[in-house]
Amino acid sequence: MSINGKICIVTGAASGIGLAIAKLYVSQGAKVAIADLNIDAAQKAADDLSAMGPGSAIGIAMDVTDEAAVNAGVAKVVDTWGTVDVLVSNAGIQIVNPVENYKFSDWKKMLAIHLDGAFLTTQACLPHMYAQKSGAIIFMGSVHSKVASPLKSAYVTAKHGLLGLARTIAKEGGAKGVRANVICPGFVRTPLVDKQIPEQAKELGISEDEVVKKVMLGETVDGEFTTVEDVANVALFLASFETNALTGQSMVVSHGWYME
Ligand code: NAD
Repeated sequence: MSINGKICIVTGAASGIGLAIAKLYVSQGAKVAIADLNIDAAQKAADDLSAMGPGSAIGIAMDVTDEAAVNAGVAKVVDTWGTVDVLVSNAGIQIVNPVENYKFSDWKKMLAIHLDGAFLTTQACLPHMYAQKSGAIIFMGSVHSKVASPLKSAYVTAKHGLLGLARTIAKEGGAKGVRANVICPGFVRTPLVDKQIPEQAKELGISEDEVVKKVMLGETVDGEFTTVEDVANVALFLASFETNALTGQSMVVSHGWYME
């Protein structure tokens, strides 16, 4: 089981969890396309990771909700390196609001980034994976793929949806060597989470400290945040696992917040 020499696309990899996955993959000898809306940050990350080695990285400008941009980005990876072995569909954002105040435009934006993004990137990568009869697709779900929390209707809906998409791809791709799995992290201290601490404190009428200790970490076994490295290690395991024995699954990495 090795990712050495594998060609990988990680969306949303200019920051947070995606960046940690790209870094771990490059450290194991993979070639990684850092596909992100923020091309400057993606290019900087690619330069830094290529300098680190032993693998290499390129930055790709990609809005995962834009079919033409996704297809062009995946085509650029294939032009550069010949194929795609691993897709990590990770790009995501968070918008919190109670359902009665949730703007329809925000709802559509959330479903587009999390679900359209997963669908479009998968659709662009599958022909290359099917042609070589091997590939690994990983969706970044969440504990919110399994449970709901107030204020997060669109996020919870989208993250639950990824389980269905992964299971369908697992069934369609099984005979063609393509596996699909979902990682479900608990709270990880990234810009996505830092932004929502004051927002949740205001909406719930509690302090920021209470948001962290009670809302985010209250049900963990040890009051600890999951780290980007924890999630990256699971992403390495799922990308390098070689058989259909592990497909259509979701793996929760959350300090015991959610136990299956
Ligand atoms: P982050 O904000 O650090 O990084 C998200 C990245 O996605 C950014 O680089 C951003 O530019 C990019 N992005 C946003 N919209 C995009 C688009 N339309 N097209 C391409 N790129 C886009 O966030 P993160 O915490 O690292 O989150 C990564 C993923 O992990 C998300 O899917 C998120 O839902 C999931 N997740 C995060 C946590 C957590 O606690 N941080 C927990 C569970 C799941």
